[in-house]
Amino acid sequence: MSECVEKVTDYFGEYVFSDAVMRERLPKSVYKAFVKTTKNGEPLNLTIADALANAMKDWAIEKGATHFCHWFQPMTGTTAEKHDSFINPTGDGTVLMEFSGKELIQGEPDASSFPSGGLRATFEARGYTAWDCTSPVFVKKDGNNTTLFIPCAFCSYTGEVLDKKTPLLRSMDSIGKQALRVLRALGNTTSKQVVATLGAEQEYFLVDEKFVAARLDLMLAGRTVFGAPAPKGQEMEDHYFGHLHERVASFMADLNKQLWQLGVSAKTQHNEVAPAQYELAPLFGTVNVAVDHNQLTMEMLRKIADNHGFVCLLHEKPFAGVNGSGKHNNWSLSTDDGINLLNPGDTPHDNMQFLVFLFAVIRAVDKYAELLRSTVACAGNDHRLGANEAPPAIVSIFLGEQLTDIFEQIKNGGASSSSAKSHLKLGVSTLPPLPKDYTDRNRTSPFAFTGNKFEFRMTGSSQSLSGANFVLNAIVADVLAEIADKIEGLSGEKLTAKLQKLLNEYAIEHERVLFNGNGYAESWHKEAKKRGLPNLKNTVDSISCLSDEKNIAVLERQGVLSRAELSARQDIIFEQYASTINIEALTAVNMAKRQILPACTMHAGDLASSVSAVKAAGVEPTAQIKTLKKVNALVAQLSDAIEALEAAIAKSSSVSEAHHKAAAYRDNVVPAMAEVRVAADALEMIVDADVWPLPTYADMLFVR
Ligand code: ADP
Ligand code: MG
Repeated sequence: MSECVEKVTDYFGEYVFSDAVMRERLPKSVYKAFVKTTKNGEPLNLTIADALANAMKDWAIEKGATHFCHWFQPMTGTTAEKHDSFINPTGDGTVLMEFSGKELIQGEPDASSFPSGGLRATFEARGYTAWDCTSPVFVKKDGNNTTLFIPCAFCSYTGEVLDKKTPLLRSMDSIGKQALRVLRALGNTTSKQVVATLGAEQEYFLVDEKFVAARLDLMLAGRTVFGAPAPKGQEMEDHYFGHLHERVASFMADLNKQLWQLGVSAKTQHNEVAPAQYELAPLFGTVNVAVDHNQLTMEMLRKIADNHGFVCLLHEKPFAGVNGSGKHNNWSLSTDDGINLLNPGDTPHDNMQFLVFLFAVIRAVDKYAELLRSTVACAGNDHRLGANEAPPAIVSIFLGEQLTDIFEQIKNGGASSSSAKSHLKLGVSTLPPLPKDYTDRNRTSPFAFTGNKFEFRMTGSSQSLSGANFVLNAIVADVLAEIADKIEGLSGEKLTAKLQKLLNEYAIEHERVLFNGNGYAESWHKEAKKRGLPNLKNTVDSISCLSDEKNIAVLERQGVLSRAELSARQDIIFEQYASTINIEALTAVNMAKRQILPACTMHAGDLASSVSAVKAAGVEPTAQIKTLKKVNALVAQLSDAIEALEAAIAKSSSVSEAHHKAAAYRDNVVPAMAEVRVAADALEMIVDADVWPLPTYADMLFVR
């Protein structure tokens, strides 16, 4: 028995061209040159690239690969790949297997059909992919096909960004640079590099594939646009952290194995709050690799689910009335010599460093709350944010009691920097050492400090985490630059006094963004309004902020996105929103007209026949008439609602400008779709179960 057991330690990362593999397979000089490139961001020369490519190819072929592909992340939010084989004909009817350095570092996939927001016209369709050598190359098996995957950035012929990876890489440069400036100014002489770290907790639903096959909405829109609530929901709270169903556990075991082979450090798994809902969390890593790994995780979730007869739903709200799915974005900053800059530590010196970075994040999040909120805007997430199950659409920060107290001290003490009042002095003994675990949990906060990192909880389960992180990196980098400008060249008492003044100003200016209470409560919405915090309730409102000068300026200043690139993105998001709602609405019309309405009409006919039959038998059909009247009225209501929805779709789809079109879909189509659902769901509750044409919520949520 025991010899059959595979050891995780043997197969973890076996499909990754990792540092260990490189050290083993590359000539020393090539390995050294490569490491230098990734560490210092120097360009890779072609000789080195050729040697690297050759070693990769040999390694990949040993794993069964016949092809390579540049794997990139277009604005669709998912990944894209175009495979080329290694074959190179020799002229004598045979082939060699070849892969050049040029093919490794750059590709030209054309790819003219990806959204570009007008940055690239189809007639000049050239798009380029470029290897992100800081994210490891890997081999992936899909069916009988094995391919070498090369994580890439994607841009237009003129160098404009067309993807989700490039701005993230740019933002890593900017936060790395600015954080290091601040560290140096604070007296750190040893750290050489600062990177943003990310741990992405991923929520998802599993539904038996036979139910999905019977529901056009799940198939095409990833969520149910109809469905009366099941008699049981999540109110017993018996699913959360409950024991794993065997079929689900087997799915998870397969999933883990394949993720581990790909070097994804899947760590935590459990049942989530809603029935049929689960979570997977990896160990955190460098932000660009962690984002790539989250993309791989989403892909594997779908693929492995399929192998187990499930469909994995990554939609933010597949089922009305039960919790939706998010993705917790755990973020921090870390130095190459192992310092977590958001770790409070327990000495005053560390506290000063910690407080500077903590305050930088607080200032950035308050100053650019709208920009941050825009990174989580999508049609799916509109169902979640502010629906009393996920953080509200208002961005606020949870610090916990103890840190809030320190914040207060700084706010009150800093104004009078004299020590006479024995107020807090940064970096001196009056600041108490911080206990290790001083924050409580607050699940209702959109942006919570959780001990040594911030957890941004607004991101949707289907979304790429690139946006959330490049914005976080950029806005924090911007504040760090401001701090560095003010403290560079100062030392001793002068430095302390300057910091004290600065943090005091920040505390006064940004106190409004701190909130430790219940983010779901109505009273908070009122309070937030009083404090002047933005509450952008839907995608269209939220994305509008991308044309604000302040937001354009910060992304340009940090070299993350140009004005043109940001404007293109705004258009793309508006278009995606309209397209998503359009698909949902057309699906709703299709199902309502071709499935629900016919079934209900037939049922009404049966009821009418039974009324006549009962009457003919000489008995008064009281109940039958009552039901028939109800069904008939609802059928009429449904029919009217369908017509109204069709009209709303026609009206909205004829709008051409992206922003107006998105607004039209929000204002006309979304409410019209809801009306159709009201009638259909009411009918589901009274129509004969045998004639109801769709799997029910109970089927989908409780049958494993
Ligand atoms: P919880 O959300 O229950 O507190 P954990 O504290 O274990 O769970 O962490 C949640 C996620 O945060 C994990 O993916 C973990 O790897 C990640 N994480 C932990 N430390 C950091 C850090 N310094 N930077 C980024 N992510 C981190
Ligand atoms: Mg968490």
